[in-house]
Amino acid sequence: PMSLSDPVKPHRICVGVRKRPLNKKELAKKEIDVVTIPGNGALLLHEPKQKVDLTKYLENQTFHFDYSFDEDATNDLVYRFTAKPLVKTIFEGGMATCFAYGQTGSGKTHTMGGDFSGKSQNSSKGIYALAAQDVFTLLRQKRYADMDLCPYVTFFEIYNGKVFDLLNKKAKLRVLEDEKQQVNVVGLQEVPVSSVDDVIKMIERGSACRTSGQTFANASSSRSHAVLQVILRRRNFLHGKFSLVDLAGNERGTDVSSNDRHTIVETAEINRSLLALKECIRSLGQNSEHIPFRMSKLTQVLRDSFIGENSRTCMIAMISPGMNSCEYTLNTLRYESVLP
Ligand code: ADP
Ligand code: MG
Repeated sequence: PMSLSDPVKPHRICVGVRKRPLNKKELAKKEIDVVTIPGNGALLLHEPKQKVDLTKYLENQTFHFDYSFDEDATNDLVYRFTAKPLVKTIFEGGMATCFAYGQTGSGKTHTMGGDFSGKSQNSSKGIYALAAQDVFTLLRQKRYADMDLCPYVTFFEIYNGKVFDLLNKKAKLRVLEDEKQQVNVVGLQEVPVSSVDDVIKMIERGSACRTSGQTFANASSSRSHAVLQVILRRRNFLHGKFSLVDLAGNERGTDVSSNDRHTIVETAEINRSLLALKECIRSLGQNSEHIPFRMSKLTQVLRDSFIGENSRTCMIAMISPGMNSCEYTLNTLRYESVLP
């Protein structure tokens, strides 16, 4: 527990929003684009109030963030302003975390994993690979080359409050917390990597594990959080860790129509974990003594990524531009707006 005499820096979080383009299906359905990015971190939502009277159709609402990216932004550009500045943190012995937040289909996996179109990573890399690239570039730099730092990768999924290892056939793992509140995911595979290609191979292996071998493949991946970690060890001791989190779709939070027990339990768990995440980030921003990490498996597992003295976080909210997504878009923007 922190004492009042300890000067603790307020937790710094950078919040960005990214609008994706309307897709072919939406264009074919003549979906209306209700999101505009004027720049300078602003996002304008033309919230549809009435469907018939076009003059009263739009009521504008502007939201402000650290960065806002329009539909022409590349993964590279988004990365440069959000996750990239965090890479050096892990070389300086700190923890970094980057979250992709938003409804299913808004572009979380596209932003994090990039475009695998089928099986292998093509030219459009995501934040996973771009961050890995920078990690290897820094490892070769003179000031870090002598530090004896060894990079490793872990990749796991949190579904319904349970942890599954995506690099080890989806093995179910136990999470233990010791008396010092150190959290340990027992048996999580930490794979040594020596190049960006090695990391990409692990991303491919883990992503395949995430979406295949189940009846409702895509549904399952949209209801789980996926965490890729790039870990630096120095003589086996943890030096720094970058956690890149592709969060579960937040749209389930508004779905109360389901009668299916399984879906209800699943929804409750997603709600709890996204709420816990918000509460933890807010408490950290207020330098609060009590941070509710235990509220969910997600925040419990990421605990050490948040509380390090030198830890940094960025959150990227993904936005679907269509009018039919408006309600979810508002939910996403409201969630992001309360972050410090
Ligand atoms: P999520 O992971 O949030 O459910 P995805 O990343 O799978 O969403 O995106 C849904 C679809 O939209 C995918 O086919 C993806 O390639 C496409 N897409 C998402 N974001 C963009 C973007 N910024 N530009 C072009 N296509 C995108
Ligand atoms: Mg996804």
